Amino acid sequence: MSDCLFCRIVAGEIPSSKVYEDDDILAFKDIHPARPVHILVIPKKHITSLATVSVDDQAVLGRILVRANEIAVAQGSPDGFRVIINTGRVGQQEVPHLHAHIVGGPDPVGPMLKRL
Ligand code: AMP
Ligand code: ZN
Repeated sequence: MSDCLFCRIVAGEIPSSKVYEDDDILAFKDIHPARPVHILVIPKKHITSLATVSVDDQAVLGRILVRANEIAVAQGSPDGFRVIINTGRVGQQEVPHLHAHIVGGPDPVGPMLKRL
């Protein structure tokens, strides 16, 4: 059994609200949504973060972005969304299995970052 939370979700050992799945990626609802639409899209294969990817991961990373719009539209964000990939300590990544947050909703999601 993996000790990675998102690998355990992929394996079905921990439940998730799945919204999209194919051979390579899985999308499910964030357990603590920050916006009306808040989906996490992950590679099924364990990749720790954008800081550890290699060219072998190019296809699965592309797939996450290529599927983002249809996932957002299906979840109720038809007019755009934001993709966030927190990376490492500085990016304040909490779960060390690469994931793209897709956040949206009927209304604009707000300023990108608070300016310094
Ligand atoms: P990050 O800070 O980018 O690593 O984001 C991790 C995200 O995972 C947070 O938004 C959490 O709410 C979310 N999360 C943690 N555990 C679960 C879970 N079991 N199911 C769904 N989302 C989760
Ligand atoms: Zn993992």
